[in-house]
Amino acid sequence: MSKTLFSFLLSELKTVRILCREKKCGGIFELPIDALFLKRPIECPFCEAKWGDGQNNPLKDLAHILEKLGGMSQLFDVEFVLPGEERK
Ligand SMILES: [Zn+2]
Repeated sequence: MSKTLFSFLLSELKTVRILCREKKCGGIFELPIDALFLKRPIECPFCEAKWGDGQNNPLKDLAHILEKLGGMSQLFDVEFVLPGEERK
């Protein structure tokens, strides 16, 4: 048996998917990475929960790290590998 692997490069990340866990909301929405740089909280469009304050959101650091590593793509890239299902 072999395992199917799913992989993607850091440079291919353009969108994040947010899964809201506030008060059993369960809402799922997507944001472009560029939107994470904005100086405002992230707001769930389903239950209106807000994460962050007036100048920040909790995903801004992630956006900065992605930008920093993306700027090094001439030297190296990072690939994420997710294990998949076993194949027979
Ligand atoms: Zn929500």
